[in-house]
Amino acid sequence: MTDRRMAQAARLPRRVQRRATPHPELSFLCCRFEALLAEARVALDISPALRIHFTIVPGDSLACITLDKLAEGECTVLLHAILNRPDTPRPVLEHIAMHELLHLKIPSREVDGKRRSHPPEFGVAERDAVPWCGLSFAWIYLACGHHIEICREEEGIRVKRGWKRRYEQPFPEWDHVCRLGERPGVDAATVASGL
Ligand SMILES: [Zn+2]
Repeated sequence: MTDRRMAQAARLPRRVQRRATPHPELSFLCCRFEALLAEARVALDISPALRIHFTIVPGDSLACITLDKLAEGECTVLLHAILNRPDTPRPVLEHIAMHELLHLKIPSREVDGKRRSHPPEFGVAERDAVPWCGLSFAWIYLACGHHIEICREEEGIRVKRGWKRRYEQPFPEWDHVCRLGERPGVDAATVASGL
């Protein structure tokens, strides 16, 4: 959840807050996401003293990391339930794990008078750490389609209401997206646009 949404939640009446706080789900992922976070933690040289929790929730963001308890030595990576399926490819999950932990290394800062949680150096570091991140984003757009939208103001991918209808169709295979990306003149952005 973004800082703004947490602030909004704090102002909501208790009855509404209860409804707005989604329950965590058991994982149906193809691998242990905690293990991917552990690998990313080592790769990024993040202090072992920091406790990194993980939860799957039907929230607003496709994925995010909460940093409000960083001073107390803990943070939580949240993954949206739309991806909680065995056919979400491991490379996409690896990308998400690395992306969220990169927020611990590259803090938000002001760029051209606006606070950015993904300043330019974030994208550089992400492409360096996850060379397949373009294909991963492409897979996400192909897989989740109109159930997600880019939220430019909050710099994230928001999951829209009605996302459970996505369960009716299998996700595209990772190899399929990679093959599309290998076509001459086709880059990840083109793949993401649906070809
Ligand atoms: Zn991010």
